[in-house]
Amino acid sequence: MIVKNLNGTSDSPKCPCGVWLKHWERYSGRTAGLCAEHTCKESATVGAHVQKDSGDKSWYVIPLCRKHNNQFGQDLNIMDSTNLVPVTNRSKCGS
Ligand SMILES: [Zn+2]
Ligand SMILES: [Zn+2]
Repeated sequence: MIVKNLNGTSDSPKCPCGVWLKHWERYSGRTAGLCAEHTCKESATVGAHVQKDSGDKSWYVIPLCRKHNNQFGQDLNIMDSTNLVPVTNRSKCGS
């Protein structure tokens, strides 16, 4: 699955989860492990903001390693099994 990495992690308003990786864990029900990029073997340390490559303009959070998170504006090929958590879903934040 192709997504575009957005340079928005530091600009966007933070939710009560504190860090976006925590937000991703809370909504996906998973514990962050490896970077979502399909060939990457690094640990995911950041919740990155991405958009789907399909005309869907929503922003999603996925777990990425530091290196891939820093590739702003680039297309990333992520594992199809990755949970894309909508940034706008705030119903469980801070609970
Ligand atoms: Zn990576
Ligand atoms: Zn949150």
